[in-house]
Amino acid sequence: MDFTFSPADEEFRREVREFLARELTPDLRRAARRTTTVFADKDVAMQWQAILLRKGWAVPSWPVEYGGTNWTTTQKYIFGEECAKAGTPGLIPLGLRMLAPVLFRYGTPQQKSYYLPRMLSGEHYWCQGYSEPGSGSDLSSLKTRAVKDGDDYVVNGTKIWTTHAQFADHIFCLVRTDDTGKPQAGITFLLIEMNRPGITVKPIITIAADHEVNQVFFDNVRVPQSNRVGPEDEGWTVAKYLLEFERGGGGASARLKIALGELRSIAQRQPDGGGASLAEDPGFAARIDQLEIRTMALEFTERATLARLERGGSPGPESSLAKNTSVDIGQTLETLLLEAIDYYGLPHANLISLNGHTGEWPAPDYAETITARYLNGRAASIFGGAREVQKNIVAKVVLGL
Ligand SMILES: Cc1cc2nc3c(=O)[nH]c(=O)nc-3n(C[C@H](O)[C@H](O)[C@H](O)COP(=O)(O)OP(=O)(O)OC[C@H]3O[C@@H](n4cnc5c(N)ncnc54)[C@H](O)[C@@H]3O)c2cc1C
Repeated sequence: MDFTFSPADEEFRREVREFLARELTPDLRRAARRTTTVFADKDVAMQWQAILLRKGWAVPSWPVEYGGTNWTTTQKYIFGEECAKAGTPGLIPLGLRMLAPVLFRYGTPQQKSYYLPRMLSGEHYWCQGYSEPGSGSDLSSLKTRAVKDGDDYVVNGTKIWTTHAQFADHIFCLVRTDDTGKPQAGITFLLIEMNRPGITVKPIITIAADHEVNQVFFDNVRVPQSNRVGPEDEGWTVAKYLLEFERGGGGASARLKIALGELRSIAQRQPDGGGASLAEDPGFAARIDQLEIRTMALEFTERATLARLERGGSPGPESSLAKNTSVDIGQTLETLLLEAIDYYGLPHANLISLNGHTGEWPAPDYAETITARYLNGRAASIFGGAREVQKNIVAKVVLGL
């Protein structure tokens, strides 16, 4: 298979690099580097979104009339690769990459003309109300109810693990409107303003002490029926379509390669206990090499998928394999980073008492975010479809078992 890029693609790459060199400020780059949670901080992501919007590059996959770029799949891949190399913050995908495709396909003309421009400008900030206590992998068992009353639905129930609900002014929600048939039937997709009376957001603090996820409670919340996307009771089809965009994506190898470079550089600076650097320890070096080989294999799989997409194909269920592979590499890498920094990986307070310092960060700068990244990285094999669920898909659809 030919993996070279055409001269036109290389020219496009140069244009992207020039843009990034000009527009990605040191502050934004530093903020992106210090991000340890799944999503960048809202302020950072929105600043970068505004810069991309001015250039017309914020939503490459949207139809051109709404602000898309009309790029080929290869151009989108190159853009993603160059952003990863430059260290840009990630955009928050909840509105731009997850809800927007749903509105393009299932939204009414009014919903499209109202929500899409506001999502793009950053006036609206969305969160996702799918999971509930007891309904995650088995999402169709969800119980949050919406009962019709005049022109409204009255919503009662709770959603959990809602990322950035503390910042969001809108939530897209799956609610149960009928429970007499199969669990997948009787689900409806609603768009809800977060300032409606009866909505409460409670923080959930993660193992890394971050506030990224929340539990959202709905207590007799009135939502106009015009906020429904798609027909009543047929929200499962809409929900699954959105998940294709949540799980798809690809391009993980570019970010993994950057992290591998970071690991090598840290290993060169950390002692191995015997007077040499950790990078010279054959056992540790071999583990880095193995990860590099797996990352190269992932990159070529991504490029093969790209070639298929350019020929009009779709990512297919193999995206489950790609997700599990990239998550496994990422989590192993985070483990090696933590091993490499040795006792600098202890929680901040312990480090201070160990070193007898007060207040100041008592370790080299390169160690500062590694423990938090390691802890937050555990979530990657859970969200967007847990590891075992992806394996089930591969077993059924790819292997035909
Ligand atoms: C950081 C983070 C952010 C999130 N953000 C959001 C958000 O913004 N909005 C939202 O709606 N949700 C969000 N989620 C929730 C996420 O989608 C769910 O956690 C996920 O779907 C798993 O569901 P669960 O937590 O209920 O675990 P469960 O489904 O209870 O799974 C528990 C374990 O059982 C295994 N398991 C489950 N079913 C099977 C099976 N059939 N076969 C084999 N093993 C199985 C799983 O793999 C897992 O190991 C987020 C989660 C995390 C961790």
